[in-house]
Amino acid sequence: MPQTPAEREARCARCGKRFLYRSIASHKPFPFCTTRCREIDLGNWLTEKYALPGEGRSEVENETEESADES
Ligand SMILES: [Zn+2]
Repeated sequence: MPQTPAEREARCARCGKRFLYRSIASHKPFPFCTTRCREIDLGNWLTEKYALPGEGRSEVENETEESADES
């Protein structure tokens, strides 16, 4: 029978710090070391997502219709 260690080691997806956890279910911030890291990462992701629309895609589609006036 293989010995199953009580704790496993993982690396935080945000800060890269190693942390120990027993199971993913019991380590709420997984795959981050702490809830703080998780919140920071989540926050960055959300702000990036909200920052994308609204800039850089307004006049691209309008330009094709004006040249269809020549016949
Ligand atoms: Zn971390």
